[in-house]
Order: sequence, then C-alpha cells, then structure tokens
Amino acid sequence: MNDEINPKYVEILDHGHVYLVDYMGDDAAIVQAARVSYGAGTKTINEDRGLIRYLLRHAHSSPIEMVEFKFGIKIPIFVMRQLVRHRCASTNEISARYSIMSDEFYIPALDQIRSQSETNKQGRDAEIDSLSQHGVQWIMQTAYENAYSAYKVLLGQRDGAEDHYDPYSEESPLLSNEFPGLARELARSVLPVANYTSCFWKIDLSNLFKFLKLRRDVHAQFEIRVLAHAMYKLIQPIVPLACEAAEDYLFHAHSLSRMETVLLKDALANGAGYRGLLESYNGDESALRKHYDLTKRELNEFKSNFIASQGG
Ligand SMILES: Cc1cc2nc3c(=O)[nH]c(=O)nc-3n(C[C@H](O)[C@H](O)[C@H](O)COP(=O)(O)OP(=O)(O)OC[C@H]3O[C@@H](n4cnc5c(N)ncnc54)[C@H](O)[C@@H]3O)c2cc1C
Repeated sequence: MNDEINPKYVEILDHGHVYLVDYMGDDAAIVQAARVSYGAGTKTINEDRGLIRYLLRHAHSSPIEMVEFKFGIKIPIFVMRQLVRHRCASTNEISARYSIMSDEFYIPALDQIRSQSETNKQGRDAEIDSLSQHGVQWIMQTAYENAYSAYKVLLGQRDGAEDHYDPYSEESPLLSNEFPGLARELARSVLPVANYTSCFWKIDLSNLFKFLKLRRDVHAQFEIRVLAHAMYKLIQPIVPLACEAAEDYLFHAHSLSRMETVLLKDALANGAGYRGLLESYNGDESALRKHYDLTKRELNEFKSNFIASQGG
C-alpha cells in the first residue's frame, strides 16, 4: 500500500488523531462475497464497479460488511460519547479506573468559538467578537487547569494544587498528611468532558458508511465531523469504488416520504414544477401543505433538498 496515497494517520482538533490500525478486505472482497450468491463457476454478470453500485443502491449490505476497519482514535470525551452511540462498532477505550488521565483538554480554535444557533437547538452559529473568542479560550483553559489540579490532589499527588489552593494548609487543612490518595475511579469525577481519551474502534464498511452519512453531515457537531472526515480520508483509497457508490447512493441521496412522493409527482406532472403547483393554490403554501399533509418543517426540508432557490 502506498502511504502517500493512503495516509494512515491524521491529526484532528488540537490534540487528537485517528489512524488505521488494521483492515480486512477492499473493493475486491465486496465483489468476491457478492458473487458467492451466484454460485462458484458462474460467469461474471457485472463489472466490479457496476456490481458494487448495485449493492449500495439496493442496500444489499452483507457483501459490504465483509470489509472491516480498525481505527486508533484520540478525541475529547464528549466526542467519544457520540462515537459510542454507533452500536455496530466494537470499542475498547482507555480505563480511567486503571490509568491516570492525561492533562490534555480540548480548546476550540478561534473560528469555532461561536454563539448558540437560533434555528438549530443542537448547533452553533455566527462567529463572535475577537476579544470574547480569546476570553472563552482563557476561561476554558483556566477551568481545565483547576480541574486537573484537583484531580492530582485527589490522586494524592501533593504538588497538584500549585497556584490554585493548598489542601494541606496549616490553618485549615482539607486533607490530612496521611491522605493516601483517592481511587482513580473516583478521582476522575472532577475531569471535564473536554479531557482527551483514546480507544480502538472497529467497524465493518456497511456500518461505517451509515456512521459517515450521519456524522459528516452539517447537522453533526463540528468536532465529530472532523473525525468522520479524517476516517473517510483513511479508508477511501482502500475502497474507492465502494466510496464512490456511497457518495452517489447514500451520502448525497435523499429518501422521499409517501406525501413527498405524491407532491413531487404532481409538481412534475403540471410541467411548471413546484412553482406551478404552488400557483394552483394561489401561492398559498399553507393550503398546499394541508393538501399534501406536510408540516411546515417537512415542506421546508423538501424544498431545501429538491427545489432550486428560485422556486422552480
Ligand atoms: C445529528 C445527531 C444528533 C443526535 N442527537 C442525539 C441526542 O440528542 N441524544 C441521543 O441520545 N442521541 C443522539 N444522537 C444519536 C442517534 O440517535 C443514534 O443513536 C446514533 O446516531 C447511532 O445511529 P445508528 O443507530 O444508526 O448507529 P448504530 O447503532 O451503529 O446502528 C447501525 C444500524 O444498525 C441498526 N441497529 C443497531 N442496533 C440495533 C438494535 N438494537 N435494534 C435494531 N437495530 C439496530 C440501526 O438501526 C442502524 O441502522 C444523535 C445523532 C446525530 C447524527
């Protein structure tokens, strides 16, 4: 494998990374598995590319599951929490009961320090002023230093308090000189979710595509999007045909509800598209929505997916 074409290690965020530990199979493995269906010795019925595209187009997932990837990942704990929601992956994460966690914490880059989105309750929106951006970084950094300092004190590392406070002060000690240090599994409670964690994460290609569709999407949080894009960069040279098909039939494809299907058929049938259809309701979009049994949100999603901004 050419490492220039196929990078195995990508740095992400401020202290994170993702690399390919190992993998099994490639485009050929998908084709090989799919052709088992036709029996040994059967003549090739499709070109490899056509076959892979057929499988993706028809959600024929089991041949795609024959390819597996194992990643080594270092990300903030809050990104890890999103990653583990993808149940079809196998995860093995560093144990903070066993190990002492590092003092690496995520601080967003200045251009990612943004205000709460008004339209997307789970998202960020406009950039904020430069003074406040730097202030946010300072506040985060200081909170992390305080938390890590407390962590070290709880672990019984007496140099941990440093500038923040003295738990062994002679006037009002918080801890006795005999304090043996708290168990790591409890001491970690004071660490913020910005603390970096590490794991191995193994997943088959079919489920990885599902993950990539969800987590490369603009609705996913920026920090996991960065991870998903880096993973895609690592696997794309290994399964280029499958990735090409996934781009066409999965990542940039949209499904239609029953109501949307009827609306689209009517819009095509009238010859003037959505705008022509809307005119038959005298431009009254709520009447159109009522007829097609669509909520305002559904119609907006439909329009953003299928209607050019000029309303055609
Ligand atoms: C933008 C975004 C916002 C989100 N917000 C939240 C949130 O606020 N709170 C929250 O808790 N989660 C949230 N999630 C997580 C989300 O609900 C899913 O749990 C997560 O994306 C995993 O998706 P999945 O089930 O397709 O993946 P996987 O768990 O990897 O599953 C892959 C496939 O296997 C199937 N599958 C897996 N396990 C089972 C099972 N037990 N039974 C049947 N089928 C199964 C799934 O249907 C899926 O098709 C969010 C996800 C995204 C992308």
